[in-house]
Amino acid sequence: MSKELDLLVDMLVKSKNTVIVTGAGISTEAGIPDFRGENGVYRKLGENRVMGIINIDFFRQNPHDFYSFYRQYFMFPAVEPGKAHYMLAEMETKGYAKAIVTQNIDNLHQKAGSKQVIPVHGNCERFICTARHCQKSYDSSYVKDSPEIIPYCSSCGGILKPDVVLFGEQIYNYIDARERILEARLLIVIGSSLTVYPLAGFVKEFSTFTQDMVIINKGRTQLDHAAVLKIDSGNTGDFLEQIVQRL
Ligand code: NAD
Repeated sequence: MSKELDLLVDMLVKSKNTVIVTGAGISTEAGIPDFRGENGVYRKLGENRVMGIINIDFFRQNPHDFYSFYRQYFMFPAVEPGKAHYMLAEMETKGYAKAIVTQNIDNLHQKAGSKQVIPVHGNCERFICTARHCQKSYDSSYVKDSPEIIPYCSSCGGILKPDVVLFGEQIYNYIDARERILEARLLIVIGSSLTVYPLAGFVKEFSTFTQDMVIINKGRTQLDHAAVLKIDSGNTGDFLEQIVQRL
């Protein structure tokens, strides 16, 4: 591992524009399970079933069943950022990371102090009123405390929707996320199986033009073959700490 550490530190020092891409795997050490891992919801329930429910059409047609499911499986426990989140925030402060493009909806990068965060799937701590004239925003405690399964807007009575990208919806920050990734000189992907599009597509596009892609992930990803360095680790927080200590 020390050879890999040396190589990555060297690449970070030389790179003028390092962008980090993160997925669910960066938050498992903080206590939020990923979807495809051993305890993940896809493994337990099957990906097709989940996709059929966490879906904008299903939400509109059957908000009661949507929320029964969403409350059980998608309202994450209140956790603090893990070491990995703090290390990435420190890398930004020290000038070694320009931005984080994340698929995560847990807001943990922002909580850890990262400033340049581009979330493409939204923020699960926020809920928005779906009434077009209203669109009032609520935090998740309002929804957790709501006595009914479907949470309603206290101003207009509209149904609230989690401010996350459901299947069938456009991702947020499409242009910004793609540009940041394609402009990077060094791209470091952490904790993503790289199976979720379009973000995985931006990474693929980057890897066809540029060589400097590093993947830190427990288990294989769809783009391992395109990485100059693949680190297969489940102790991402400790690994990033060692990097930061050498920068
Ligand atoms: P994924 O579940 O497809 O892949 C996560 C990867 O991280 C897996 O390959 C897993 O082996 C790896 N991993 C797990 N623990 C790790 C660790 N400690 N260090 C390094 N790697 C680790 O996740 P994805 O590609 O991000 O896509 C899943 C989708 O699920 C995204 O759309 C995302 O929005 C959503 N999601 C988000 C959260 C969150 O916000 N924390 C959690 C679950 C799912």
